[in-house]
Amino acid sequence: MAHVITRPCCNDGSCVEVCPVNCIHPTPDEDDFLTAEMLYIDPATCIDCGACIDECPVGAIYPDDELDAADEPFLQINADYYNDHDVDGGLAHSSAVPRVPSDRTLRVAIVGAGPAAFYAATALTDIRQVSVDMFDRLPTPYGLVRAGVAPDHPKTKGVETSFARTEKRRNFTYHLNVDVGTHITHDELAERYGAVLYAVGAPHDRHLGIPGEDLPGSFPATEFVAWYNGHPEFAGRNPLPAADRPSTADAGRAVVIGNGNVALDVARVLLEDGETLAATDIADHALAALNESPIREVVVMGRRGIENAAFTNAEFVSLADLDGIDVVIDPAELVLSDSTQRALDDGSLDSTIATKIRLAREFAARFDELDGLDERRRIVFRFLASPVEITGDDAVTGVRCVRNEYTAPGAVAPTAEQFDTAASVVVRSVGYRGRPVPGIPFDAERAVVPSTDARVTDGPGGDVVPGLYVAGWIRRGPTGGIGRNRMCGEEAAAAILADFAGGALPEPAKSADDVADLVAARGARHVGIDGWQRIDAAERAAGKEGGRRRVKLVTSEELEAVALADGT
Ligand code: NAP
Repeated sequence: MAHVITRPCCNDGSCVEVCPVNCIHPTPDEDDFLTAEMLYIDPATCIDCGACIDECPVGAIYPDDELDAADEPFLQINADYYNDHDVDGGLAHSSAVPRVPSDRTLRVAIVGAGPAAFYAATALTDIRQVSVDMFDRLPTPYGLVRAGVAPDHPKTKGVETSFARTEKRRNFTYHLNVDVGTHITHDELAERYGAVLYAVGAPHDRHLGIPGEDLPGSFPATEFVAWYNGHPEFAGRNPLPAADRPSTADAGRAVVIGNGNVALDVARVLLEDGETLAATDIADHALAALNESPIREVVVMGRRGIENAAFTNAEFVSLADLDGIDVVIDPAELVLSDSTQRALDDGSLDSTIATKIRLAREFAARFDELDGLDERRRIVFRFLASPVEITGDDAVTGVRCVRNEYTAPGAVAPTAEQFDTAASVVVRSVGYRGRPVPGIPFDAERAVVPSTDARVTDGPGGDVVPGLYVAGWIRRGPTGGIGRNRMCGEEAAAAILADFAGGALPEPAKSADDVADLVAARGARHVGIDGWQRIDAAERAAGKEGGRRRVKLVTSEELEAVALADGT
């Protein structure tokens, strides 16, 4: 028997640290940890002790004889990793905490309240003489765990439990509903805190730069995700076309451009039935609108081939379990580059890519069987196709694409062939983009805050700005899930502690005790831990009535009304 890691894996490495035989890889100190889609248990060395099960924050690990039928493909996905990874059973990673002076205190401001921010805060507040003040412009914490993770992935939201332990620590303070840049400037933070860490994510969408991008019915995945997850800035903005909108398009089809995990989230949420979604914490306004939606087919359009598809194998294989939704792949779409075909033939292909191709071929094997079953809902994968225009006069009627071909490993170029796909909805899921933070350096080309080892520099490759740090997507760009952001947050915390220990932090000129009053005087309706706990309790209580995890409050007004109920 062995244990098996399944779809919700968040790569945070907690399991690695407790495994007594080091059978979970890649470990944080192995080269491919930062790029691995998930972690894998070596069935040959697992001793079934179960320590990893207790430690996993998202409940992703099972003994192989307790796997659901839906999770059985993960037996092979775990084993496949060890086809081309010869791991030596060395010691698992343990993060080194610099020794900090016991006679001095440090107060750190963290801007942002998502995973990178929380993992940094946890590492910092592990140290008694360090305290953290966390700022977020929303009245609710947890960043993309609340506003990004798809509602039908509740296990992934399990990481909130560890964040909730950190937020209750005595050396942790919330300043929620406070916009840094509006209610307090960066300079005001810098003069009050020994270190300021920005972990503000990458909240914007990227543009395709093609005609028709702004037609009604075309919208970025960032907006759709924020809307269905109840982000207050998107509460009143239903991006779906009105059900009665006159359209010459095939009203039942949506096209999603890009094939990352966000594209798969969007495809599932567009198609899942109302009953499935009603059991989640999806925003009620989205549930009502999706129940009215005519969409029956979602075409996921990737500009490169299957071998470079951006979705992870875990998310891809899990599509097979969706109730009433078929995954449709025409075998003719699964064209490989010459080099990948050669590596596949001689067994030298990277195991993650080989698994991706195997899974796609398994879906494609059902293509003929699904032909004609058009009354069922379906996710159709297309590859090697780039959009050149979103068509329509007053609203979206479809997408015009050019067919691509491989020119080198991983690189494609357009051919002369074009084709049209009719659709009433086009979701552009081509990645997130960071935006400048007022008062601190920004690398406009990469849309990140420039840094060296989490220390902010005054430009790309420039000098370190003492006391200023960055973590998460605004440091690295918008790739990698919770596990990668854990590493990034912990690296930033280690850099702060090392600089504290080495006397490299500037001495604050002022006390930070006035921050809540200062921001209130500028119009912020400050929410602290009590206010957030009131929101949390109200949402959970509302959820309990309907058997849901929570029912989200979605407008600033209702969130503030609950958070500030006793006037504080
Ligand atoms: P992503 O993984 O970077 O995918 C972006 C997609 O957009 C890729 O398919 C990319 O193609 C395509 N694209 C970019 N520019 C394009 C253009 N001009 N024309 C056509 N296609 C274009 O980004 P994401 O899906 O937004 O996800 C962000 C991160 O969050 C990822 O690391 C993802 O794994 C993670 N995430 C994880 C989960 C989960 O674990 N369940 C859920 C959601 C998100 P190319 O590959 O050719 O560039």
